[in-house]
Amino acid sequence: MRPKQAAGSQERAALQGTFVNMNKSPFYTRRTTCRLCDSANVECVFQLEPSALAEAYLPPELAHEADERFPLDLFLCHNCGHVQIFDVIDPVKLFSNYRYTTASSPGLDAHFRHYADEVVAKLAPPAGSIALDVGSNDGTLLRHFARHGLTPLGVDPAQDIARQATAAGIPTLARFMDADTAEIILNQHGPVHLCTANNVFAHNDNLGKMADAISTVLAPDGAFVFEVSNLLDTVEGLVFDFIYHEHLCYHSAKPMDAFLRRHGMQLFDIERVPSKGGSMRGYAQKLGGPRPISPRVAEYIAREEAAGLYRTATYEAYINRVNRLRDQTTEYLRRCREQKLSIAGYGASATVTTLLHHFRIGELIDFLVDDNPIRHGTLSPGHRIPVYAPEAIYEKKPDVVVILAWRFADRIVPRHSEYLAQGGRFVVPMPEFREYTAKNS
Ligand SMILES: [Zn+2]
Repeated sequence: MRPKQAAGSQERAALQGTFVNMNKSPFYTRRTTCRLCDSANVECVFQLEPSALAEAYLPPELAHEADERFPLDLFLCHNCGHVQIFDVIDPVKLFSNYRYTTASSPGLDAHFRHYADEVVAKLAPPAGSIALDVGSNDGTLLRHFARHGLTPLGVDPAQDIARQATAAGIPTLARFMDADTAEIILNQHGPVHLCTANNVFAHNDNLGKMADAISTVLAPDGAFVFEVSNLLDTVEGLVFDFIYHEHLCYHSAKPMDAFLRRHGMQLFDIERVPSKGGSMRGYAQKLGGPRPISPRVAEYIAREEAAGLYRTATYEAYINRVNRLRDQTTEYLRRCREQKLSIAGYGASATVTTLLHHFRIGELIDFLVDDNPIRHGTLSPGHRIPVYAPEAIYEKKPDVVVILAWRFADRIVPRHSEYLAQGGRFVVPMPEFREYTAKNS
């Protein structure tokens, strides 16, 4: 059965065209059933503008590479309530873009330090037992588990990263987490008391296979802990720009618990964590495991029901709100252009890619600046806008700077009061449109 499309406009008709063309791309597939429950009772609840791959900031020597844009449609499953993207980009292509970025970010080590401290305090895994991390990357989290006397074991399909982690003292299997990997782990180490998976649960198109493998290796009293971006935060925080192709799933507790149960596990606790624009940390055990189910699980699901996460109308209202802000920003910037004003953007991250494409303002922006040096000297995905260090706003003196990294506007504006003092203007497009000058900042 073909997925239902949201009611049509010209934009959507155009998108259908994109969709047909993209089917020919060797890197692109579109699923037609829910990633968690496999139901075909799914509905497209809104469509963002097709976008280039959000992380693909290119070095100038690759500027000639084709500007490929892929549909970015959000689907709601009416069977289980899971919200997801059906447009799947080949992980090989997605992954190849990461060679221009870096896996480690300054906040990540501190995040995983707290994570390990909290998980060990809460679950008290036996001393010396295996801590298994799925999608372990360079082993940052496992290093913190080792600090607590656990035996680290990583699983990560990226050969180079797995080899480097192993050489650095974190044994890492360069494999996907599947039935064969589960067998290897059971044979070599026996049942696992603590298994973690972070973000891979949002990135992987075949979650069922991974959940089966995790359930297989888990000891009867073992725990599976995962952190995923949180649909409740995506909706309540209006962070539509966290939607991009690297994030296939927008998780909520109700469909997640049902999914885990189908794969022999159950949620026994859940908490909200502030990382990455809002995440949730789930704690699961084998079905019928020894831990009592925290009342927080039912409370969390009630909160999701109250926020309307499983209803189409919620997403219609949501995208209408985003589009009103888009229209306000676009009109403002077009007027600036008519007055021959120069415009820069503050921020060069994955979220900025989604925002620039959906707001269709890439063509209006002369250059971007970003605090992260790794982006300096690159070109933005799709629009190929050059990215500089923040000092560029003093050297090139743009008339207007749009703060595309709008969640950080409260930090960026005061830090650059000098730019305002020199006659500059900041514009913040979300969560409501704001303008800052030397007079009103
Ligand atoms: Zn479903």
